[in-house]
Amino acid sequence: MKVLVAVKRVPDGNVPLRFKPEGAGLDVAGMPMRINPFDEAALEWAAQAKEAGTISEIIAVSIGGEACQETLRHALALGANRAVRIDTDQPLEPLAVAKLLRALAEREQPALILLGKQASDDDNAQTAPMLAALLDWPQGVFASTLVLENNTLQVTREIEGGQEVLALPMPAVISADLRLANPRYLKLPQLLQAKKKTIETLDPSELGVTLAPRLALLQMAPTPARKPAVTLAHASELVHRLRQEGLP
Ligand code: AMP
Repeated sequence: MKVLVAVKRVPDGNVPLRFKPEGAGLDVAGMPMRINPFDEAALEWAAQAKEAGTISEIIAVSIGGEACQETLRHALALGANRAVRIDTDQPLEPLAVAKLLRALAEREQPALILLGKQASDDDNAQTAPMLAALLDWPQGVFASTLVLENNTLQVTREIEGGQEVLALPMPAVISADLRLANPRYLKLPQLLQAKKKTIETLDPSELGVTLAPRLALLQMAPTPARKPAVTLAHASELVHRLRQEGLP
């Protein structure tokens, strides 16, 4: 059984994000980058399933410029058998990503497509549902547990105050919560072996997809810093301040 896993290159969440002037978007120049943590959890689940003999092949796919090769090498070290980069330097909307993944799925015919529940840089959480709709496949989003038995998937989803368990026939689209699997620590030999593997590169036009944008970014800016807290000696002082400054 073949599984396709979508892996996005995102800024490392341990470093504060930088924004371009005049709200023109994220400034990732020189920022440390990593594999999207939700995608890494999905990949780890797939690697464990391959080790258990439940699945036979993992194909990792990343869409973006040449730098995505690093993300794909990480995916190969984690357990992917093959890696595909769909080459573009254009800003990508979730619908364009979903269309590219659909085209690749039509070529590769996987039984399962795993994505992260959201990309940690833009928090869209749209690609997996769009992909499922384009393929007309069942979807289990925000999966915290995934069990594959007799060609059926059992997906546990965390919902407000509880859990929901769904059964899905395959082929299906699943988006991973961080709880799905704990990524393993990669050792040097795995990283070195991954460096030797070939990464296939495809042009969006080879997949018959045009990436014309449908949205215009009007503004992307950091959240304004909160005013520092102050300690007041008496309630009367608080009343005075509230009268002077108005209620927050
Ligand atoms: P989003 O809908 O943008 O929050 O992204 C959800 C998921 O779609 C990510 O966790 C990835 O699995 C996948 N995805 C989004 N953008 C890309 C990309 N450029 N390359 C590969 N996968 C992507």
